[in-house]
Order: sequence, then structure tokens, then C-alpha cells
Amino acid sequence: MKGATVLGDGKPARDTSLNTVSPRTTTPVRSAARRRDETRLGLVRRARRMNRTLQIAFPHVYCELDFTTPLELSVATILSAQCTDVRVNQVTPALFAAYPDARAYAEADRTELEEMIRSTGFYRNKANSIIGLGQALVGRFGGEVPDNLADLVTLPGFGRKTANVVLGNAFGVPGITVDTHFGRLVRRWQWTAETDPVKVERVVGELIERKEWTDLSHRVIFHGRRVCHARKPACGVCILAKDCPSYGEGPVDKLAAAALVKGPETPHLLALAGIGDAVTEP
Ligand code: SF4
Repeated sequence: MKGATVLGDGKPARDTSLNTVSPRTTTPVRSAARRRDETRLGLVRRARRMNRTLQIAFPHVYCELDFTTPLELSVATILSAQCTDVRVNQVTPALFAAYPDARAYAEADRTELEEMIRSTGFYRNKANSIIGLGQALVGRFGGEVPDNLADLVTLPGFGRKTANVVLGNAFGVPGITVDTHFGRLVRRWQWTAETDPVKVERVVGELIERKEWTDLSHRVIFHGRRVCHARKPACGVCILAKDCPSYGEGPVDKLAAAALVKGPETPHLLALAGIGDAVTEP
């Protein structure tokens, strides 16, 4: 144990020099070095701590797609592929009024349906999925959306992501939704290096308590949309800086970072960073 400080009990002293720096002075290099030595228990604790911190940042998470029934959420989620939730929410009120149940989708006039959903993109494929969904629900599930993963993933237009969105938000069954934001952020946080969404879901499911899965998914997606952007994350005002091994990938200057924050929670997020007044005053 060459060079190590030895305590009176004969055990080498633990080098805590990398653990005592504040979030604002932690450099990416030092953080990365710290994570390489992270134990499994340390990772579990850090991941759960980050989830709790995200709860402070986003205390009121919710599904950003508008819906009132499992069927509406199923259709909205199919439409949300390669499309913003805002756009989907513009389309769905008229769509849901025109197609009130699974049979209506099963018997839909394809041209009319395509026209209603055209602005969400990939409308031909999406119309196929939605008509197929209606037919499958009528044919195999009595017109109702099933409330379990095994059945949901057999439906047209459904993968595990869509199934978990519906399970978690329409049925209250905990589910982890691995979309592009979720996968990107948990890799940035070194929770996992996996890129396959199913593997990411399994790894994160082993880190985070099951009852937290649905809200964690929302929190991570909110953070990805509002703060931790793919190209320029707002590290300088990020509430997760202390626990993030990628701190410094984006601007660490507070005002430069503050300008990158998006969404309705911006005043709250900047207040948490201690600069709310500075950037919101006229
Ligand atoms: S914004 Fe920066 S510090 Fe925050 S989670 Fe993303 S990379 Fe980490």
C-alpha cells in the first residue's frame, strides 16, 4: 500500500479529497474519477438521492399528454412517436370526440383518420397502428385496454415504452418509461452504460424503488426537457450537480446556464439555484 496514509488501527486511510468539493467547484474530471471507484451500494444510494433531489425540482410531475381514459392515452402515446406532446394535445380533442371507443377506431375510415392525425407526422403508419389497436381491443379484449404488460405489448403500435406509459399513468401500475431523454440522462449520470431500452429499464428498476418508477420516469424526462439538454445542459444551475459525473458538459456559469432552462418550472428551478431574482427581475 505504497504511499497510503495508515491509521492507528493499521487500516489505510480513505482518500476523501474527491468527496468534499462543493457542486459548484467539482470539475468533470474529478467527478468522473470519483465515479470509477463507486461501489454498487454507492451507486444505489446516489441514484436514489438524485431521484429525491429531482422530486424537489419537480414536485408535481404528470403525463404531458392529455387523456381521460386508458384508450385515449394509448392513442395519444402512439401519436407521440417522433412528435411533440404539445402537437399531439392539439390533435387529440377532436380525435377523441370523433372516435369515442375501440370499435370506432376499428371501423374508422382510414382516409378520414389519416387526415385528423396528419400533423403529427408518420400519419399512415400511425393510422395503421390505431385501427389495428381498435381491432385488437375489440377482437381480443372486449373493447378494453388490458392492464398488464404481457397483453399490452401484443397490441399494434405498442412497445414496452408505450405499455409502460399506459400502465403507469392510466392504471397506476409502476413502470419505467425509457424514451430518448431517459436513456440519455441515466447514461450521463453513469447509472448504466446500456443503450438498449429494455436493458436500461431493467438496470434502473434494480436501482430505484418500484413505487417510484412512474414518477421517476416523469422527473427524468422533465429534467431532460427543461435542464439537461442533449447539446448544452444547464449545469451551472442544475440541482443535480453534486451527484452528476457529467457536471461541466454544459456551461457552469450561472447566468449562461440560466438562459438555457426551459419550461413552466423555470422560476422555481432558478430559485433553487439561488439566482431566481437576478434573472426574473425586469
Ligand atoms: S445539467 Fe449538467 S450537472 Fe445537471 S444532470 Fe445534466 S450534465 Fe449533470
